[in-house]
Order: sequence, then C-alpha cells, then structure tokens
Amino acid sequence: MIDDLQYGTRNKRGDWKPSSPIALPPLVRSKRTINLAGWLLSFVWPWNLITLGLTVLLWSLATPSIKTMQTLSLGWIVPLFFTNWLALFAWFGGWEFVLYRKRVQQRRFKYNGTFPSDKPAAYFWFNDQNIDNFIRSMFISVPIMVAMEVCALWLFANGWGSIEFVTEHPILFALLLVFIPVLHEAYFFFVHWFMHWEPFYQWCHSIHHNSINPSPWTSMSNHPIETVLQFLPFVIWIPLCPFLALYHLNTVALSSVLGHIGFEKIEINEKTAWSTHAYPHYLHHKHFDVNYCDDGYLPWDRWFGTWHDGTAEGEQLMQERFKTKAARKNSRTA
Ligand SMILES: [Zn+2]
Ligand SMILES: [Zn+2]
Repeated sequence: MIDDLQYGTRNKRGDWKPSSPIALPPLVRSKRTINLAGWLLSFVWPWNLITLGLTVLLWSLATPSIKTMQTLSLGWIVPLFFTNWLALFAWFGGWEFVLYRKRVQQRRFKYNGTFPSDKPAAYFWFNDQNIDNFIRSMFISVPIMVAMEVCALWLFANGWGSIEFVTEHPILFALLLVFIPVLHEAYFFFVHWFMHWEPFYQWCHSIHHNSINPSPWTSMSNHPIETVLQFLPFVIWIPLCPFLALYHLNTVALSSVLGHIGFEKIEINEKTAWSTHAYPHYLHHKHFDVNYCDDGYLPWDRWFGTWHDGTAEGEQLMQERFKTKAARKNSRTA
C-alpha cells in the first residue's frame, strides 16, 4: 500500500488532491533542454503502448479478409462489433471493477471521496450514474465507433488506402503513431471548447457533464453527436492506411478512460504506481469552464487562458476569469 498523503492532502469530506501543481507537458517543461528520450518513454509507456497493442491485436485477430469486407454484410460486421465491444467492455469495465466495485485502492489517490454508486441522482437513467453511464458508453458510443470502423474497413477493401504503407514507409508510419495522440489532444481542445458554447452545451454536452464525479463508465457517456464529433478526424487516415484509422479510433476510445478514472495514481504493487494525469479533466468536470484538454502533450489550455493547475493560485485565476466573463455577459444583457 502506498501512502497517498506523501503526495497530497485529504480534506474532511475525504477528497484527495495532489500537493504539487499539475506538471506542464514534458516538451515545454524546460526552456533550456528538451529531454526527447524521456518524453518518448513517457509518451509510449504505458498508455499509448496499450492502445497500439490493442489495435495490433484486433487488426490481426478480428479483421476479416479484404474479399469479405468488399461487401457490407452482417456476416462480418456482427463479429467485428462483438470483438470491439468486448475489448472496450474489458477496458472500461476492468478499471471500473477493480477501482470502483472491488475498490482495491479504497480511496487512496481518489480525488472525490465518494463513489458514484453511493449517490443516486434523479437526472441519471434509473437514478444511477453507473447504469446511465454504462448504457450510454457501451450501447450508444461504442456502436457509433464500430460503425466508423466498418466504414474505414469497407472503404479499404474497396481500394482506399493501403496496409503496405506500414512496411513501405516505416519511419513516416512510426511518426504518425506519435502524431495521432497529439493531434487528438489538439482537436479535442477545440471541439470541446465549442461544445461548451451555451446552446450546444444545453442540447448535447450537458449529458456528459451530468457526472460531476466521473468513473470509467463516464468515459464515453455522451450524446451521440458528441461521440461522432470526438471520433471524426479518424477519416484523415482512410485514404492513407486503414491501420492508422483504427489506431486513431482506439486512441480516442482508450485514452478517454484516463480523464475519467478519478484516481491520480494506479497502484501496480507496494512500491510502483502509474500516473493517470486525470486531474485536469477531473477539475473540468468539477468547474466546467477550465481544462478543455489535459495539456498532456501541448499546453493548449495554458495558451488560451483556461488552465487550472490544481493549486490555490489556479483556483483564484479561474474565479477571476469567471467574474470577468459574468460582468461581460451582464453588460451585454443590460
Ligand atoms: Zn469528461
Ligand atoms: Zn466539457
């Protein structure tokens, strides 16, 4: 068991917070030197390597032959759907089971002292955040994602893109594997900011924000339009290489759990713990108008003035920004 109070503090309500500010992305942490090797290692291990591993596994084991995919038929779409569904069920459900059902870490490193199942709320389906988020993630968002994958594979089987791209351009392929998560973060910052535009927020994104205390099931608990918007840039890779399109889809799906996992660290054993970098998005669910992305690779929120680094100063800056925004709104309506 790791003592989380060596890394942060817990208030009377049981909410834990880290004692250090959320770190800047490694690429911009130091103006003097960029530790490229260190950055690459932290980039690859463990989260992006898991995404790549899952994509390779699904590509090798679950992708039908080109001939089969040339025609849209339930014969290959249904098995493909179930394989992807089960993989994502294992990913989201595994974290949920270990951290929220078995509670193997109890509340160590948990930002919010309560567990969603302890707090029924009428605005969730069946008055239960877990059931609501599970249905929305697994029965709305995952089918949308698999439908996109089916489109990519069907187009590939009919002459769009090439899987030989991997062996013909290995360096470019490797660079794109690094670029895709960075692109997703940048895109997510802008599309997420747009989703907080009042009319769109009320109609669409508010569903995701019903969960103020998120858990892994919250990761893809969205309005269907939000899910489509989040995954959409995968289309860029369809004319190039189907594997990149699938890797992009899996990057969006798998990385979404990190913002909603609710724990600062995942204890692997008595001494080792993996950092999740979940605090920026936890603060987003708590305060709404901050941290539109996690600033994991590039400091988009910092550049656009919406960053909250988890400290008292960050809180003060946010409150001042809220006051200015409210004053501007009032002067417009006066
Ligand atoms: Zn969220
Ligand atoms: Zn939001």
